[in-house]
Amino acid sequence: MSRFAQSRPEVRGLGMTSQRARDRLIERLHSEGIQDRRVLDTLRQLPRHLFIDEALASRAYEDTALPIGQGQTISQPYVVARMTEVLIEHALPRRVLEVGTGSGYQCAVLASMVEQVYTVERIDELLRNARRRFRKLGLGNIRSRHDDGRLGWPDEAPFDAIMVTAAGADLENTLLDQLAPGGVLVAPVGPPGRQALLRVRATEQGWQRETLAAVSFVPLLGGIA
Ligand code: SAH
Repeated sequence: MSRFAQSRPEVRGLGMTSQRARDRLIERLHSEGIQDRRVLDTLRQLPRHLFIDEALASRAYEDTALPIGQGQTISQPYVVARMTEVLIEHALPRRVLEVGTGSGYQCAVLASMVEQVYTVERIDELLRNARRRFRKLGLGNIRSRHDDGRLGWPDEAPFDAIMVTAAGADLENTLLDQLAPGGVLVAPVGPPGRQALLRVRATEQGWQRETLAAVSFVPLLGGIA
């Protein structure tokens, strides 16, 4: 049974946000190629409707990105599922850094699966909203910080895995340097319209880089707001 199934009606959802709506989304993600049961089960349990504005809640279990304010978006469920799958494919990481908290949904997915998540967001208002959601859902294994995530989180490095959820012009060496040996980084890279999802593994021979898929993310920006 879902971890949240017995909770308040608001968390449980009803109608367009019900468990049935979530189940249908999971079937769709599975039919589109998401294989990892841990990922599918996590998305089945997590109430995505709590990560978006109430006015859009009825669309929470459509497989689509949605606006979250400040010109930013909550990623499409397929993309969240795929990025999580490729991040944990070889080994389940213990400590994960996420760059670009946004709504907090991807972070909550990770926090449901690993021991500790660190997340950095450059827009203060989005971070405050995300923190409220983490508290509401009782996700106690997330540390978050208002900063330019391109710098990573040096005091807590190294990380077993790093996920970047906004697209930079190139891979950030500062982030790669914060990977533990054997660690994995997943990040969209490239200009709008020509972005690719990359996975980099820190091996004894150096960084091994793979291109996984064409994607479309909001830009990774400098500074804080
Ligand atoms: N993971 C988010 C996706 C949000 S979109 C979710 O599940 O909802 C990407 C986010 O990255 C936006 O909130 C944007 O403000 C943030 N971002 C962009 N550049 C950043 C940077 N340099 N440091 C931290 N966050 C950044």
